[in-house]
Amino acid sequence: MPDLFSEIRQLLEQERDLFGETLLTEQHYPLEVPPVPSKKPVVPEEPLLFDLPEPSRLPITTEGWGTAASLTELDAAVCTCLKCPLGKTRTKFVFGVGNPHATLMLIGEAPGAEEDAQGEPFVGRAGQLLNKILDAISFKREDVYICNILKCRPPGNRKPLADEVEQCVPYLRKQVELIKPRVILCLGLTAVENLLQTTESLGRLRGRVLQYEGIPLMVTYHPAALLRNPTWKRPTWEDVQAVRKLHDQLAVK
Ligand code: URA
Repeated sequence: MPDLFSEIRQLLEQERDLFGETLLTEQHYPLEVPPVPSKKPVVPEEPLLFDLPEPSRLPITTEGWGTAASLTELDAAVCTCLKCPLGKTRTKFVFGVGNPHATLMLIGEAPGAEEDAQGEPFVGRAGQLLNKILDAISFKREDVYICNILKCRPPGNRKPLADEVEQCVPYLRKQVELIKPRVILCLGLTAVENLLQTTESLGRLRGRVLQYEGIPLMVTYHPAALLRNPTWKRPTWEDVQAVRKLHDQLAVK
């Protein structure tokens, strides 16, 4: 029994570290602290009414890297890419990191300064927050696969340009094909709008089960946005709970 108590205490402390006092207080004293209105994602008991088109049947590329049989092979084949001007300004090509057999794949926007220096996605402050978010749904960083829409850092962390995305996204599509994750989680609007060619707002996209290349996809706020605006932590917590639920439901199919 004491073990159970310390486990519960540890979980609560972990949630407080990540999401602050409000989440806990709201649960205990709902009358004193009015709940922050948030759009709760609903994952249906019987998932998957996809509302986006079927996967593309077109081959990803006719270039040599298209036949890569593993992530290591793909990385080696594309890491010297100079298709867009970011190839000349990058320090390191940031291919992606994690379990090549991951059931959950996370996709962010583009490397920042730390990622550019280290060659690994999400290693700066946003990355540390991402690790905590993963922890809150019982995933370790090494269980999942993490990458970005762009493999090279845009100067000053500006948003990816259409041409950069056009050149780079085929590499990501190949990564998805090799990993075949059960669920994709897009971190932020830039990731989802470039992957799904949608112009809908994050508010309209959150809480829905979309799809990319036939794989269920959900979206939440970017961890860097949470660092700027902590009131988004609670909706993010709801989003990632829904992702975990969807992921687990699909395991038993
Ligand atoms: N932001 C991203 O979108 N990706 C990273 O790898 C780091 C910060």
